[in-house]
Amino acid sequence: MYKLKFTFLLILLTNVSILLSQNFSDNVKPFIAIKETVFAITNVTVVDGTGGAPQNNMTVMVKNGKISYVGPSDKISIAKGTFTIDGAGQTLIPGFVMLHEHMFYTKPFEDEFNIVNMTNTFPRMYLAGGATSIRTGGSVSPFTDLNINKLIKEGKMIGPKMDVTGPFIERENNFSIPQLPILPAGQAPGPMVDYWANLGCTSFKAYMNLSREDLKETLEHAHARGMKVTGHLCSISYHEAAELGIDDLEHGFMVCSDFNKDRTEDHCDYRKAWSGLMALDKDAPAMDSLMKFLIKKDVAVTTTLPVFAPLKNYELIPGGGEQALHPDILEEVKKYSAGDAKSDSIDNIMFTKELYWIKKFFHLGGKLVVGTDPTGSGRTIAGYANIWTLETLIKSGFTTSEAVMLCSLKGAEYLRKQFDTGSIEKGKAADLILMDGNLTIDPGSIRHIRYVFKDGIGYDSKAIFDSVKGKVGLY
Ligand SMILES: [Zn+2]
Repeated sequence: MYKLKFTFLLILLTNVSILLSQNFSDNVKPFIAIKETVFAITNVTVVDGTGGAPQNNMTVMVKNGKISYVGPSDKISIAKGTFTIDGAGQTLIPGFVMLHEHMFYTKPFEDEFNIVNMTNTFPRMYLAGGATSIRTGGSVSPFTDLNINKLIKEGKMIGPKMDVTGPFIERENNFSIPQLPILPAGQAPGPMVDYWANLGCTSFKAYMNLSREDLKETLEHAHARGMKVTGHLCSISYHEAAELGIDDLEHGFMVCSDFNKDRTEDHCDYRKAWSGLMALDKDAPAMDSLMKFLIKKDVAVTTTLPVFAPLKNYELIPGGGEQALHPDILEEVKKYSAGDAKSDSIDNIMFTKELYWIKKFFHLGGKLVVGTDPTGSGRTIAGYANIWTLETLIKSGFTTSEAVMLCSLKGAEYLRKQFDTGSIEKGKAADLILMDGNLTIDPGSIRHIRYVFKDGIGYDSKAIFDSVKGKVGLY
C-alpha cells in the first residue's frame, strides 16, 4: 500500500463564452440565470450526497451539463476567463430526488373532496425548491403528467426530470374522490398497467382498497417490464406486500395496517390501522421484526413528512409558502386546518413516532427514501415542502450528510439513476442546489436557495417562486 499525492491541475481550453445549445422557449428563458457551458463554483461548502462528511473550501466545475471536477479550491487552477461563481459563505448539495410528488393538489369544495392538477405552477415550483428529479406517487391525470414531462424535456416548461407513475391502481371505495381512477369489479389491473406503460409511464402505485390478488398481478405486469411498484396500502399489510414482492411502501410507517388486531384480509379500515399504530409502543418488538422483514425483502419505505406535519410548532404551509397560494385557497386551507386542530395532539404523537421509526429503519440498514405528497388538507405544496423536508430531517436528528443523502442519492438509487444523478461526483449530471449560508450549521439555509442547476443550467429559484405568488390553487 502506498499513497500518491497529486496536485490537480485543470486546464481549460474551451472557449468559455459558449452557451449551452439546448433551446428554451420564451416562457422558460427569463428564469435561467446561468447557461454557460463551462463554469466553476469556488470556495463553497459541499455536502455531496454520498453520506460523507461535509467539506469546506471546495470547487466544483461543470462542463457541458456534467460535473467535471470536485476538489479542494487550492488544488485547482481555473483557466482565466472561466465563468466563476464565488461560493464563499454558501453551500452546494445535489439536487433533490424525491419520490412521492404529485402534479395535483387538494382543493376541497364545500364538504366534497377534490383534487386538481396544478399543471402550470407545480412543475416549476418543484425545481425552484431544489427537486431536480421526482417520481410522481400516483396520477389522476397521467396524460397531463406525461405531457408535462415531455414539455420540460423540450425546454418549453420549467420542471424536474420525471418518473411518471401510471394512474392509481384502486378498487371501489368509500372515499368520494371524483378524480380517483377505479378498476371496476371483474376487471384485472394487468391490462391497465400494460396500457399506461406502453404510453410512457415508468412506474406504478397501488392504492388502499386492493386485494392481494390485484397487487400480485400489478407486480407481475410491471416487473415483466423492469418497472417498480409502490403502494399506499391499507387493505394489504406491509408484511403481505413485502411477501408478494412490492418495491416500496408510501408514507413511512403511518399507514401500516399490520398492527390492527381486528384486521380482515383484503379489507381497508384506515381508522383501525391508525388506532393500532397509536396503541403500539414505539419500541415494540413486532415493529422491529416488521422492519427487519422489509429489509430482508429489499423493500424501500418512502417517508412523506410534510403531509403529516402537525400544526403545533409547525408552519401552516410547511416551508413557508403561504404567499404562493391564491388568497381564497389560503382561506380554505386555514378553515380546514382549524378543523384539524382538534386532533392535533394525536397528530403530534404520530408524527413523533414516524420520525422515530424512520430513523430506526434507516439505522437498521433499511432503504429509506423521501417524498412530500402535496395532498392532505392543502397545507403541503410543491417546492416549499421539498425544502422543508430536508430542514426537518436535519432538525429531527439525522446528520446533515445523512439528510442530504436521503433526499438525493437514496432516491436516485431507488430509481436506478445513481450513475447519472443524486450526488456531487465527477461524471454525473450537474443537478445541484446552491444556497446562501452553511447548511451544516443552520438547516434553515435551504430556505435561501440561489440557484438550482439541472443538467448544468442554473435556474433562479427566487424568480420562479415570485412568478407563482397567489397562483397555487388556480393554475
Ligand atoms: Zn400521495
